[in-house]
Amino acid sequence: MTAKLILGTEIQKLIFEEIKSEVAQIKEKHGVVPGLVTILVGQNPASISYVTSKIETAHKLGFKEVQDSQPVTITEKELLALIDKYNKDDSINGILVQLPLPKHVDEKKVLNAIDPDKDVDGFHPVNVGRLMIGGSEVKFPPCTPAGIQELIVRSGVDTNGAEVVVVGRSNIVGKPIANMMLQKGKGANSTVTIVHTATKDLASHCKRADVLIVAAGVPGLVKPEWIKPGACVIDVGVNRVGEKISEKTGKKIAILRGDVDFDAAKEIAGSITPVPGGVGPMTIIMLMKNTLKSLKFKLGIA
Ligand code: NAP
Repeated sequence: MTAKLILGTEIQKLIFEEIKSEVAQIKEKHGVVPGLVTILVGQNPASISYVTSKIETAHKLGFKEVQDSQPVTITEKELLALIDKYNKDDSINGILVQLPLPKHVDEKKVLNAIDPDKDVDGFHPVNVGRLMIGGSEVKFPPCTPAGIQELIVRSGVDTNGAEVVVVGRSNIVGKPIANMMLQKGKGANSTVTIVHTATKDLASHCKRADVLIVAAGVPGLVKPEWIKPGACVIDVGVNRVGEKISEKTGKKIAILRGDVDFDAAKEIAGSITPVPGGVGPMTIIMLMKNTLKSLKFKLGIA
């Protein structure tokens, strides 16, 4: 069997068009657009590249977008004052602080200073709590897990009563996606198991999974014999395993591998995400969806 490919590259385009059209409608009816600010501290090249992609996407969608770049010497007090300014700014619906922050700044304190109603990354304890409660309490599901759920829903995978196994228990992927999959509702209502480094027999749990979500950060961790025939396999892992020269640009680029042995797994799974091109492209678009949602909550039309 060759698995159906679940392509984030394609699905994110559909969501992009949906958001763009909704932004245009809201602008016409209410005279406002979603506002997103990204706060970048210092000049970390990876952070600059992430922030640039976010801002460019926001721009193409018709958002108001602000990139606020601050020197690496900014004090914690100054950064907190900046967040307070954007918390009070009516034209801003989403505040994103690009991590990592310099060592002299308490990351947790800064993230917790963001107004939970503008926390479009969904990492504020209030939003983590809302996600745990589920249903209409949820405002901003964190972006990568939200992207995973969209991939599952839009690929027509039936999760109702399904055995879902999540490999990894991080606060940004494993715990939130496990929590989302067990809630009642579409793309969820599953029986969920979370496995991690202390799990005794990883393979036996994975073998039970109708939907296997792997977010461990270990290239090729999941072997083909751990996959139930016909299962949906979502590989969140992004691991740099070397470098190559890009045919398009002639520049050096990273060779990326997922946490699943893709070539062998695709012969057993029913559907599978590739790396790159699976989960990766979904994160930014879900950030945009959360920012639009934030404006809709404010307008009372969510
Ligand atoms: P993380 O914080 O390092 O967490 C990894 C989790 O996997 C931990 O809970 C760890 O268990 C578990 N784990 C590691 N090795 C394992 C093993 N051999 N057996 C069982 N469990 C194991 O990583 P993360 O932030 O969740 O990210 C995971 C992967 O997803 C990374 O490759 C990352 O680059 C990728 N990622 C991609 C996106 C995207 O595509 N947009 C977004 C976020 C992350 P313990 O808790 O016991 O240590």
